[in-house]
Amino acid sequence: MRGFFIGRFQPYHMGHHEVVKNIINQVDELIIGIGSAQESHDLENPFTAGERILMISCAIDELEIKKKVYIIPLEDIYRNSLWVSHVCSMVPPFDVVFSNNPLVARLFSEAGKKIINTKMFNREEYQGTEIRRRMLENEEWESLVPKSVSRIIKEIDGIRRIRDIAGRDDNNEKDEGIIIGSKADVKPFMNRNE
Ligand code: NAP
Repeated sequence: MRGFFIGRFQPYHMGHHEVVKNIINQVDELIIGIGSAQESHDLENPFTAGERILMISCAIDELEIKKKVYIIPLEDIYRNSLWVSHVCSMVPPFDVVFSNNPLVARLFSEAGKKIINTKMFNREEYQGTEIRRRMLENEEWESLVPKSVSRIIKEIDGIRRIRDIAGRDDNNEKDEGIIIGSKADVKPFMNRNE
């Protein structure tokens, strides 16, 4: 049996990882769809589809499982009635959809697919929104994601990206020295002189 599981994974965290481990026990092969693949570089969706593929594939490698896992980026099409056909045209055939998202479940069940609800673990902490908030506020976030994910986020300078997008400037927060490295660095200085 081949299963399908989709999420935005911004970023891929321990809650997703537990869901994936659980699903893998129930299927022969798993397809993981990276939803909203076209989105990146905003506060809701800081990471590119390619970066999310890397996070998930490295985290799954850590599990040392023998089963085949396909990771496929899927752009949104903003036409829900056609979305299932769009997904099916992009991924290998599958027998069952694992989802907790009411819209995803509704669209696939209307298309005749079997749906299995997924359970999230430690939902208070394992939440994309909470992890992105901690990254922005320079609070501890690494314990909420698999080790390989925190390594990749550091490699791509992901925290700096989030803080830049939000217009935060680490240098200006620490002291009044001005180091201009990007447009976001310039902004607080300009505001101060207005
Ligand atoms: P999502 O927008 O990534 O997640 C929605 C919420 O559900 C988030 O708070 C997420 O938490 C949470 N969540 C994810 N997995 C969960 C689970 N197993 N148990 C409890 N909560 C969970 O949506 P998604 O369902 O994960 O992904 C659906 C993707 O399909 C999206 O990218 C969406 O845009 C796409 N889609 C597109 C169309 C279209 O193009 N017309 C139609 C339907 C769906 P985290 O933030 O912690 O992940």
